[in-house]
Amino acid sequence: MIHDDEEARRLLCSMSLGYTAYHVWATQARRERKYNIARLLEALSDVKRVRAERAFRTLGEVGKTLANIERALAGLEPETVATGPVTGTGVLSRELMGRAAHALSEGRDLTAEELDDLYVCGSCGELMEGVPPASCAECGTVREGFLSFRVAEAMGTLGPTNLVRRLEQAPETVRALLADLDDELLSRPVGGHSLKELLGHLTDMDIVFRERAWLILEMENPRLPAAHPPTLEKAAVYRNYPIGDLFDAFTNSRRQTLNLLRGLTPAAWHRTGYHAIFGTIPLTHQGNWIVDHERGHLIEMAQIRHDLLEQRDQQRPIVLPPHLVPEILEGE
Ligand SMILES: [Zn+2]
Repeated sequence: MIHDDEEARRLLCSMSLGYTAYHVWATQARRERKYNIARLLEALSDVKRVRAERAFRTLGEVGKTLANIERALAGLEPETVATGPVTGTGVLSRELMGRAAHALSEGRDLTAEELDDLYVCGSCGELMEGVPPASCAECGTVREGFLSFRVAEAMGTLGPTNLVRRLEQAPETVRALLADLDDELLSRPVGGHSLKELLGHLTDMDIVFRERAWLILEMENPRLPAAHPPTLEKAAVYRNYPIGDLFDAFTNSRRQTLNLLRGLTPAAWHRTGYHAIFGTIPLTHQGNWIVDHERGHLIEMAQIRHDLLEQRDQQRPIVLPPHLVPEILEGE
């Protein structure tokens, strides 16, 4: 029993560290737009998470919530133990990462042909590639209990209703992010990019997405154009445009995109196109692509706005009337 506990503690440490490592690496791969490699790393991080959780339960650290909260407040202090290597420990995971290393040596992402759908057993963390078996070969858990990392969902798992809602919300979000900023601030780069060029870039990408969506809806499994959509670097020119024009261009483009998508049947959303990297993918994949891309840049724009306002207020400090100060402090 003592020996078992020791092994469970070693597993908890090893798997927790492995989970964190793969999870952060997956986030970084997405940032570098290596979406299939990110999908692989996300699957590997869940392999570790499932196993860490199992070890944690084995150690008797999970009781009723009341006891768990008490335990948490008391300060859970697991013994740290030597773990050995925490990543690259499985035969299949090493093989898949070998494929990723090969693709990266050619300066590209893995293609869908090179990395099939992945599944992770939700009970034991067994990793599987391709069509999943009816049950886990390791522990017998049925297929319904597997976590999936499918090519079609590599961009995200939002369905049509949520996708349309996010696309609808973006112009209002953009309007709020631009409010009360003068032209100089809107053109001023913060961390490399200005709000104007980011907005111009969002329009460029909306047009690429709409073209692809139109092809998918109008043709039988079309080859999707432009493996290289317009980059942010090409958007620097928008710094010299009037903000009104940039905002109108975005809202007009988005209106056309929504006109194309509104009222589509589920079958229409599952029509497919062929993408050089992702293989045959449904319209929902591309919908998640544009929404995910936009979300990243909207966060970036919110940060730039925050930094710009801070810079402006440092130049012209707002002096509060003395009687207001205590009220604000009390409002904390
Ligand atoms: Zn299993």
